[in-house]
Amino acid sequence: MAGVERYDIRKERLAKSESTSLYGYDDEFRNTIATVDESGKRIWIYPKKPFGSLHTWRVIVTIVLLSLLLGGPFLKINGQPALLLNFFERKFVILGQAFWPQDLVLLAVVLITFFVFIILFTVVFGRVWCGWMCPQTLFMEMVFRKIEYLIEGDAPAQRRLAKAPMSLEKFYKKTLKHSIFLAISIVIAHTVLAYMIGIEQTIAIINQSPSKNLAGFIALVVFTIIFYGVYAKFREQACIAVCPYGRLQGVLLTKESIVVAYDWLRGEPRGKLKKNPEEISHAGDCVDCHLCVHVCPTGIDIRNGTQLECVNCTACIDACDDVMLKIGKPKGLIRFASYNSIKEGVQKIITGRVIGYSIILVILLGVLGFALMTRSDVETTVLKVPGTLYQRENGYITNLYNVEFVNKTFSDINIQLRIESPGYAALVNVAGKPVSVPAEGFLKGVYFIKIPEDYVTNARTVVHVGVYEGDKLIESVKVKFIGPVGKASDAKRN
Ligand code: SF4
Ligand code: SF4
Repeated sequence: MAGVERYDIRKERLAKSESTSLYGYDDEFRNTIATVDESGKRIWIYPKKPFGSLHTWRVIVTIVLLSLLLGGPFLKINGQPALLLNFFERKFVILGQAFWPQDLVLLAVVLITFFVFIILFTVVFGRVWCGWMCPQTLFMEMVFRKIEYLIEGDAPAQRRLAKAPMSLEKFYKKTLKHSIFLAISIVIAHTVLAYMIGIEQTIAIINQSPSKNLAGFIALVVFTIIFYGVYAKFREQACIAVCPYGRLQGVLLTKESIVVAYDWLRGEPRGKLKKNPEEISHAGDCVDCHLCVHVCPTGIDIRNGTQLECVNCTACIDACDDVMLKIGKPKGLIRFASYNSIKEGVQKIITGRVIGYSIILVILLGVLGFALMTRSDVETTVLKVPGTLYQRENGYITNLYNVEFVNKTFSDINIQLRIESPGYAALVNVAGKPVSVPAEGFLKGVYFIKIPEDYVTNARTVVHVGVYEGDKLIESVKVKFIGPVGKASDAKRN
């Protein structure tokens, strides 16, 4: 009986919300972000200390992820960094495998695959990455904000301190807080640099005087200023106004995406808790306590629906669940749910868009797997020496080539070039000595290819050259051999 009554109330509320267009897309809403007032002035957010079971899980996830992030530069696979993104030297190491500018296509496929994965993940699970995994949010909410709570107290105490005139206590608290912020920013700056140039070089910079490695020192100072500025001042604006992923939510989210959502059918009409049981049964479950707003680090009221500022941190879920427990109502008035699952009561995950993105992702993963499996350790480029055509010598036609070898591995490789086809072509190394390409380096050489005149009947003969390390074929390169059209054999006959 209670279930039937509940259903009727939801139906009635749904009809009402649609007729008043409470969550309709034609609603007039705000055209400013929640942290900026109408005159364009920043509204500083003092979120209340979060608490609850989801917050406990976030603390655990944060400890794991930040340990991985800060310890990452020390992780090695086969003696190589697990992750190195050296943009200066255009060298990238992912899971111990080196990638060079020559692997541009492969890197492009990796990036496209990653983006499609992020899109698919967002379409299904909304912005959960932002609240639970993004380093910006983890550092802001779980490190810097926690230090702030520890030194300045909860939101009301922070507000009081901000308004209070300068005193010894205020000076002490502010100085202590900002000194710790600066120290953590220095640690983050060193970590970022270690991901870019490697941990050994970063330690070397630390141990040298700044004048010995001015560029490294300047990079560290710049990174520190940026991180300190972001965490001490810019804060949630990074997610709202700068992060491109955040800005993309408007086009990625669908009505089926699972986001942090307020169940307006259950919560409305909101109002203060009434003592009269009759009134209670017809009122919504939201008692308008504003706790969900007070804990929000981006200053929004989730009861207004999904908004671009929401980073899915779930602080409002915890806060509301606590209220529901206290007033004897079921938890989940704010919960992970899609717009349609609240409206229709059914959560659909597999939609046409999800299937489409999944198919693209599987294809890309296939391409990536194939490209990785067929990727060679040595990249060989063979180009005709500029300004040369061909020479005729002792019954042979010869072409001169510049050859460049790039060794993508971390050890030296002894290379040999051999003609695979046609069998009558021969290859001569001008330097006449064995080729040893240094680890992570490149080597240039000059080679002749010679073909007996009788066999040169085309202007262009395709020669297949094999690149060998011992007996192992590493790569096969196609080379164009230029000869005199028909003239070589004529000349021989005459
Ligand atoms: S915390 Fe829950 S009950 Fe309180 S205002 Fe927010 S939605 Fe309503
Ligand atoms: S609305 Fe809720 S989930 Fe979204 S940012 Fe605010 S507190 Fe976090």
